[in-house]
Amino acid sequence: MTNGQTGRCLCGNVEYNTGGEPLWVTICYCRFCQRATGSDKMIEPIFEREPFRFTHGNPSIYTLPSDGSGKDINVHFCSECGTKLALTFERWPDRLGIYVGTLDRPTSISVTPENSKHIFLSEARPGTIVPPGFLSTNGMQPRTTVHPSNRTCEKNLTWLRVDSGHLRISLGCSVRTAVTQKPFSRRTAANACFVRF
Ligand SMILES: [Zn+2]
Ligand SMILES: [Zn+2]
Repeated sequence: MTNGQTGRCLCGNVEYNTGGEPLWVTICYCRFCQRATGSDKMIEPIFEREPFRFTHGNPSIYTLPSDGSGKDINVHFCSECGTKLALTFERWPDRLGIYVGTLDRPTSISVTPENSKHIFLSEARPGTIVPPGFLSTNGMQPRTTVHPSNRTCEKNLTWLRVDSGHLRISLGCSVRTAVTQKPFSRRTAANACFVRF
């Protein structure tokens, strides 16, 4: 367990060690993840189930079937403070997902186009923006790389937006330099070229 990352709940009653580095990172916008985080998405590093250990305290488990597969998803949470720490899956018994914010050093896990994917964008909030180059899909499994590449924009200012249920590709090549510092501003939206995906 020497290479693992540590984490804990808000009150410290439950602690864990991941036992290793993440296999990949899922960024999920589905309604389950929205409710389970109380936010717009879940950033979920996925680890091997076996070396992972709860090292202090015993989390409670809430189980419910997945809307998609009907297989159980187990939410591991602290019964003292209510923090959700991890997910385990009937469908993938050798995997475990972490709520990234519970890590002691959440920034130690990088999220890059090579190690992560954005999924269930079909359920994402309007205005959601996905950085360029990331594997993205409306459902669970990436079928294609939604983003066509960054060739069109030297300034790396190409974004995916979700507007009114439509995925759009924003070609940032027309965005001026000033927008670099405020990529989410109205100005970006006004200047960018939206293309129905
Ligand atoms: Zn707690
Ligand atoms: Zn989800």
